Amino acid sequence: MAFSPALTSLIDALRILPGVGAKSAQRMAFHMLQREREGAAHLARSIEQAVENVHHCKSCRMFTEHEICDICANERRDASVVCVVESPADVMAIEQNTDFGGRYFVLLGRLSPIDGVGPNELGLDILRQRLAEGTVEEVILATGATVEGEATAQYVADLARQHNAGVSRIAHGVPIGGELEYVDAGTLSQAFSGRRAL
Ligand code: ZN
Repeated sequence: MAFSPALTSLIDALRILPGVGAKSAQRMAFHMLQREREGAAHLARSIEQAVENVHHCKSCRMFTEHEICDICANERRDASVVCVVESPADVMAIEQNTDFGGRYFVLLGRLSPIDGVGPNELGLDILRQRLAEGTVEEVILATGATVEGEATAQYVADLARQHNAGVSRIAHGVPIGGELEYVDAGTLSQAFSGRRAL
């Protein structure tokens, strides 16, 4: 027996979500129709509104409903320091957990030639423009400690140096409260090479 066209369409639509296969899409659709009709209608409206109104900031590529995001528009944020991250979630993490007072640039990915992700896909022409304006003095590279993250950091570092901006990389290493014996080899070796004087 086949499901009704509307139900089939809902199940198919849910499968665009990361980690959602046929089985979980079906479970979600049933759940919404059996127990959460009001919530489901609200979800549909929220998705429509977000897709319609949320865009990327023209300056840093963070999500915003305006041309320029709140951080870029905030005169009190130091425009001479730019922290380069891979995703909007990274911006939120830094905002919530540090006292960083500069601005950001969100790559929305990392260099990965195999997947067809090059400098253009990461919006690096926008970053190049910001660097060319001459107000940026330091670029903090906060991309992930993966092979692609490191390659991306290297690429952005070269770009920053071409525009005479200083470059720093966030430290990677032993987590707070971490016991050395449980830290993996790569992390421990990073922690050693990234040590600083006390
Ligand atoms: Zn912005």
